[in-house]
Amino acid sequence: MKKIATLSRNACVSCGCCETACPKNAIEIYNGIYAKVDQDRCIGCGLCKKACPADIISIKEVDSIG
Ligand code: SF4
Ligand code: SF4
Repeated sequence: MKKIATLSRNACVSCGCCETACPKNAIEIYNGIYAKVDQDRCIGCGLCKKACPADIISIKEVDSIG
């Protein structure tokens, strides 16, 4: 099982705090609208979750792909 960050795009205020906090450079603010997680880079550390002022990020376990 792999852990990754997921978030509610509609609730994202695109502040960029998660992007700044991520040690794996796994988040980008997509078109300035919402945070997008690169699932291949994400290690599920949860630092983005701690950094998010809107508290919309969750760390979920997923079946690894492939
Ligand atoms: S859980 Fe960690 S690695 Fe994954 S996006 Fe958040 S800060 Fe980056
Ligand atoms: S920290 Fe939260 S509100 Fe800010 S860009 Fe990331 S997910 Fe969106």
